[in-house]
Amino acid sequence: MNFLKRGINLPLLVGLVLIGGWPMVFGSSYDLRVFTLAGIYAILTLGYQFIFGHAGALALTQGTFFGVGAYVTGLLGLKFGWGFAITLPLSMLVPLLLALLVAAPVLRLESHYFALATLGIGQVMLLLAVSWESVTGGANGLPGVPGVMFFGETMPRGWPLLLFVWGIAALAALVSWQITRGLLGRAFTVMRENDTAALSIGIDIWMLRFSGFLLSAVYAGIAGALYVHTIRVISPEVLEFHIMVAVLTMAVVGGRTHIAGAILGAFLLVHLPEWFRFLDKYYLIAYGAVLLAMIIAAPYGLIGTVQRLRARWFPEAPPAPPKAVPLPARRDDSLSGPLLEVTSLAIAFGGVRALDGVSIELQRGEIFGLIGPNGSGKTTLVNCITRIYNANSGALRIAGQDATRVPPYAMAKLGVARTFQNINLVDEMSALDNVASARAGIEGVGVGRALAKLRDTQLARSRGYAMHLLELMDVADVAMQPCGGLAYGIKRRVEIARALALEPRLLLLDEPAAGLNESEQADLAARLKKLSSLGVTLLVIEHNMPFLMPLATRMACLDYGQVIATGTPAEIRAHPRVIEAYLGAPDAAVPSAPDLALKGAG
Ligand code: ADP
Ligand code: MG
Repeated sequence: MNFLKRGINLPLLVGLVLIGGWPMVFGSSYDLRVFTLAGIYAILTLGYQFIFGHAGALALTQGTFFGVGAYVTGLLGLKFGWGFAITLPLSMLVPLLLALLVAAPVLRLESHYFALATLGIGQVMLLLAVSWESVTGGANGLPGVPGVMFFGETMPRGWPLLLFVWGIAALAALVSWQITRGLLGRAFTVMRENDTAALSIGIDIWMLRFSGFLLSAVYAGIAGALYVHTIRVISPEVLEFHIMVAVLTMAVVGGRTHIAGAILGAFLLVHLPEWFRFLDKYYLIAYGAVLLAMIIAAPYGLIGTVQRLRARWFPEAPPAPPKAVPLPARRDDSLSGPLLEVTSLAIAFGGVRALDGVSIELQRGEIFGLIGPNGSGKTTLVNCITRIYNANSGALRIAGQDATRVPPYAMAKLGVARTFQNINLVDEMSALDNVASARAGIEGVGVGRALAKLRDTQLARSRGYAMHLLELMDVADVAMQPCGGLAYGIKRRVEIARALALEPRLLLLDEPAAGLNESEQADLAARLKKLSSLGVTLLVIEHNMPFLMPLATRMACLDYGQVIATGTPAEIRAHPRVIEAYLGAPDAAVPSAPDLALKGAG
């Protein structure tokens, strides 16, 4: 039994006892009802975690989806007497359809506009519920919604309904766990922390956000259905904004991504008003004060804080790293012709022409050095080649394939990987998982797959490869440590390992030697040479000429977004325009060639 070896998870145990014991101690029918509502809110919050927590988007639709689910079940139960087996699926389906309908326009909006747009959807639904009086009963709603019905039998309130609701909550929690525990969960984390990094490792962030949004709608629909069955009235109250505020607060107080956080948040937020009832008219003040205190004292949510405290007070040795597994044989690269063709690429930001008709060509297996003054467009060129930026004009071909309009996440599949000028790793994630997550695109993660394969080996396999790559970069000893605390030079190597997890044909390195000391630089140069000998084509941006000149087979120099020279390192060093724009007098800035060769190889 694995969990016995690891020691029992005490907070989880306490939580389970609390959840299980509560209604037994406080067992009046009123208490049971409040506890049932807590279960419903737990389901609602679990769903909200997909979009707000895992996908990291401030959607304000959860209350709306809840209300729509409630109306579907309420009206169908009331008017046609349909049972739970039909109404529940419909209560899941209708919010899902609504989410599908609004996803395309709203999911592409920037965060605060996204929040506003989602808020607007709620207002429309509320208006509809109030004004469509003949069907919905208008502002007063309709009483007499039946309880949960199976085969014409209505489930009694009290204990049966409570157990039923919490049973569904447990199921919902299991599904959440199954969806997020594997490689898909890591992909969500990378996307949430860093969109650009996620795109660079082939994660389709729009698809992920979309799945999170749809999941949130389905969960909300279930919660809405159970809610009307519990309160037995359908009225526009279920669409009002305070429900959204409650869910948001539950997710923030409990924890945005922890399953236990959703349950704890729901339990506390539903019970707090009850506990403060004795304060009479001052209860709202106390309620607000307690919430504020919780948010200040536990910025990562209560569960996150418990975990942090536990890690501080009872530090455990990090788990043993997995066994390294060499990557499978690389794809066939025997095609002829240049690997990268950039033709007349241009992009402007406002008045700044960051790239002004850049054309370069990289042959297979070469190490291409790119130099130029700060602001000359080097990083912009890499961003255009990786499609993070959409060039205004020009063309891009990878291995003969047109990639001018390929979405950025698809570049990884074409064999393009990169590292960043400012390291883009997820600080909270271990070095191992930072690298393993780069397998998400290749492995093909998705909600359907996570649910279909109960025992998924994607994550374990990816970690095996990641371990191999960390060994290759000589940083295997930090595999289990969070990246945030690693030294700069180590982070750089982890980032290269992550890029290599994509099995790239072309690796773009943006100032990889910056911030490294001399021996680290020599080590990096040797590693890059080795990669090149293994068949990876490299494009290296550097200011450090002693590092780059002996390494590069060919070079280009950019100035004001234009290529001012291309050639061998020797040609570049002697080129009058390069000297004028960038290098300065040859003897002052750059050591002589034999010197360089020695340092680079060392
Ligand atoms: P380099 O990497 O050569 O130092 P960059 O490619 O980062 O230069 O920048 C080239 C020019 O493009 C600079 O003037 C920079 O301010 C501008 N630039 C780059 N990215 C953006 C952006 N996202 N928005 C506005 N200006 C940008
Ligand atoms: Mg740059």
